[in-house]
Amino acid sequence: MSDCLFCKIITGEIPSNKIYEDDQCYAFYDIQPQAPVHFLVIPKQHIVSAEELTEENAAVVAHIFAVIAKLAKQLNLLQGYRIVNNVGEDGGQTVKHLHFHVLGGRSLAWPPG
Ligand code: AMP
Ligand code: ZN
Repeated sequence: MSDCLFCKIITGEIPSNKIYEDDQCYAFYDIQPQAPVHFLVIPKQHIVSAEELTEENAAVVAHIFAVIAKLAKQLNLLQGYRIVNNVGEDGGQTVKHLHFHVLGGRSLAWPPG
């Protein structure tokens, strides 16, 4: 999508601090980290949110979770971490391109606010 921030990050039109990329997904550090380690993993396909997932396009989510497990080990998140996906207005989603936050490097409170 031409006016989507994360699509522009994937193409390099907007710079990012990239961690990993393959044919299906792209991982980069969040610009406003909420934990010592805070990165985002996004599908290369423009999917607005988890609400738009279907049997046809949801396989990328399994792939992203496998990538997260690999990256979390590489980044030494050995005490655990949290995967967050915000959906829509009440969910606090500000960027309308599906993304999974990975937060770690400190103990995280539960439940979230
Ligand atoms: P959400 O509120 O779940 O939609 O999360 C969007 C996230 O994208 C926020 O944590 C922002 O800090 C992050 N973000 C926004 N712009 C950028 C950018 N240019 N590079 C990296 N992260 C960004
Ligand atoms: Zn997009």
